[in-house]
Amino acid sequence: MSTLPYQEPLVVREPGPLQIPEPARRGEPGGPPCAICSGETRAAVWSEENWTLHPPAQGSLVGAVWLASRVHEDSFSDLPEEVASTFGPVAARIERAILSLDDVARVHLYRWGDGGAHFHVWFLPRPLGMLEASGMMLPVWEDVLPNVADSGLAEAAERWPAGSVPATPSSSG
Ligand SMILES: [Zn+2]
Repeated sequence: MSTLPYQEPLVVREPGPLQIPEPARRGEPGGPPCAICSGETRAAVWSEENWTLHPPAQGSLVGAVWLASRVHEDSFSDLPEEVASTFGPVAARIERAILSLDDVARVHLYRWGDGGAHFHVWFLPRPLGMLEASGMMLPVWEDVLPNVADSGLAEAAERWPAGSVPATPSSSG
């Protein structure tokens, strides 16, 4: 079912030497500045009190977005409780909005945090019928599929159906 987007035979590679301590990530003491806090990322297509939602740059899946906390904190365990507690409802709205786009089978969430130390979660739509991109294969396929124009990615993210992602928390129903 799920398949790597490469032809076989692939050869298993031995892991390289461990790098300890690890190099500082963006937004970490000693690392480069945080790209989210310094506004180097794509502008938000939606935001509210605690969260901002962004389209990717140079992506291949229409409907893909990433959600960032407004506060510069690293992961779930670092977020203030009042922010962390709103993650589930916000994620549900985003999932609903992506599923309303055409030809989306499922929405995958990925939080890695290896590149930057500012909380952000990816929402990737798995194309309907593309079973070889199931599970962990979706981001690998995302990497090799031809990129969609950034304007197309932003347009899809801005095309939230009315009510799925309210403009303000108070308008949620
Ligand atoms: Zn930051």
